[in-house]
Order: sequence, then C-alpha cells, then structure tokens
Amino acid sequence: MAKQQNSLIYDEVLAANAHYADDFGDKSELALPPARGFAILTCMDARLDPAKYAGLAEGDAHVIRNAGGRASDDAIRSLVISHKLLGTRTWFVIHHTNCGMELFSDEVIGTLLEDDLETASFDGKQWSNPKHRGGHAHGHFIKWHTISNPEESVVQDVRRIREHPLVPPYIPIFGFIYDVKTGKLIEVETASAAGRPA
Ligand SMILES: [Zn+2]
Repeated sequence: MAKQQNSLIYDEVLAANAHYADDFGDKSELALPPARGFAILTCMDARLDPAKYAGLAEGDAHVIRNAGGRASDDAIRSLVISHKLLGTRTWFVIHHTNCGMELFSDEVIGTLLEDDLETASFDGKQWSNPKHRGGHAHGHFIKWHTISNPEESVVQDVRRIREHPLVPPYIPIFGFIYDVKTGKLIEVETASAAGRPA
C-alpha cells in the first residue's frame, strides 16, 4: 500500500510541476535577493501556507521552515545569510495554535524512537508505537525544541535571534501566532517588543 501511495504522490507532484512550468512566464527573470526584503521563520505544519497567509509571490521573501518554526542554530544560520548576503531587513517569527510540537517532550520522542522507527499514533493524550522492532537511542541525544506554550516560544525565539552576535541591532523582529482556526496572524506584543530594533 505504501508503495502505491508513493508512486501516486510522485506522479501527482510531477503533473503539478509540469502545469506550473507551463505558465512560468516572466518568473524566469526574478532576481535572487528577495524583492520585498523580508524573511519569515515559521513552522512546517501543512496547514500553514506563508505565501497565502502573508501574501507572497515568487521572489518576494525568504521563508525558513522547521518543526515549530523554532530559532534553532540552523534557522539562525539562514536568517544571517538572508540579511548579510541577500539584504533582508525585517524578520517575522510566526508560530501557531495547535502546533504538533506541543504534543510531546524530548523524553517522549526519544523513548518512541528507541523502541521503533515506524510512525507512532496519538490518542489525544499519549503516543504509542504500532510495532516494537527496536529503533535507536540516538533520539535521546537530540534537542527537539518542543513547545509548551506558543506565546512563550515566540518570545524565546525572538529573544534568541535578537541576542545573537551575528544579528545586527537595526533589524526589527516581529513575533506572531497564526491561528489555524481563523487564518489570522495575532501579534505577540512581548515578542515584538523584545525584537524592536536598537
Ligand atoms: Zn507547528
């Protein structure tokens, strides 16, 4: 079943791309640096589409995504490149309601991975593995950047970026939460205050 599903998705992606490339038009003329000079750090959650929720077209802005939209070392690496080499001057950190990163702890995912690598299921309270074939203990050595409260996580991340020695003080960093029930961006005032340029 998994194999059939894989080849269906493979075909769908290539068909969609053929359609997209047919209408590519003057997007071939786009410059490398983002035309609107800003960057968004946000969660990889499939319900979030930054191009739609923030009104982006190809070439407009950088979008850096990871699980949670966290200001990990790698996210900061991208933001520093985004400004230093590609000229963005305004940054947004956008987490969201109902984030999957609120549903586990480092201990929980470490233990699940040690038991089995197959996709676990969540019953609304806890996670369990469908199989127990043995995974790997490596998960216990990773910092997963889970979230216990989305407002706190936005504040933490804006502060971490603000205080980074390679982030210049003149870049404003705004903190928001995207509401998956309404599609609205809600500003986290404490985060934006922490991200105010000096
Ligand atoms: Zn999320």
